[in-house]
Amino acid sequence: MPALASVEMMLMELLRDIRVVLVQTVHSGNIGGVARAMKNMGLRDLWLVSPRQYPDPEASWRAAAASDVLDGATVVGTLAEAIAGCALVVGTSARERKIPWPIVEPRACARELLDVRAGGQPVAVVFGREDFGLNNEELQCCNLHVTIPSDPEYSSLNLAMAVQVMAYELRLEALAREGISTEVAWDQPLATADDLERLYVHFEATAIALGFLDPERPRQLMPRMRRLFGRSRMDVMELNVLRGMLAAMDDALQRKA
Ligand code: SAH
Repeated sequence: MPALASVEMMLMELLRDIRVVLVQTVHSGNIGGVARAMKNMGLRDLWLVSPRQYPDPEASWRAAAASDVLDGATVVGTLAEAIAGCALVVGTSARERKIPWPIVEPRACARELLDVRAGGQPVAVVFGREDFGLNNEELQCCNLHVTIPSDPEYSSLNLAMAVQVMAYELRLEALAREGISTEVAWDQPLATADDLERLYVHFEATAIALGFLDPERPRQLMPRMRRLFGRSRMDVMELNVLRGMLAAMDDALQRKA
């Protein structure tokens, strides 16, 4: 049945390339557990940011028949490298933070991830350390936060279990889309994590030059601006307009000086 096979292919391709990023995992057994959870659900793209121990026999043992996903993991030094090029970055977190960020449930999150992925650009889901999760700086690199609605009495899941829940929701969503056209009608590619990072650096520098931002007392200006720009899902054209406007402000300041 060729038709069914090609639908299954499309589904597999969408899922396979969704990036799972683990930040500074402490227990290598969990990395193996994550590889298995991913492969069970058809995900293959594992990224490790400064893992304490990799490769490790404990990880291979826990990965069981998912050693291909485990061995194929990409190891990088920073989160920025792991999310470079991604048009949607979702951070997972069990608890609320000081500055609230747009939060979705796993099901809605899977929908958004597949929408953007279907548009052809990479997407990532980021998971934190076993002992203290993701820090604020890391969470502020994300467009969106997702919380698995666990019991508030004990809300923190084991890392591999959290990946399992997210991967399962992604698979359910992909299955629900079988046969449905995955085309997203947008005229421009979305800005990526690294495009946004450069915008933030430029924005901050110009705000300081203007005397609008006091570097001695930055307060929460940049986290708030990151939240604003991050949740807007701006495209590259919109981002270039902002960068162009900042550059014009820089020029005007220089002419005045
Ligand atoms: N003690 C840490 C939790 C670490 S659990 C904290 O309080 O933040 C390890 C990772 O599993 C988390 O960083 C997150 O990526 C994921 N995780 C665990 N429970 C989760 C939940 N309820 N919702 C979303 N992600 C969760």
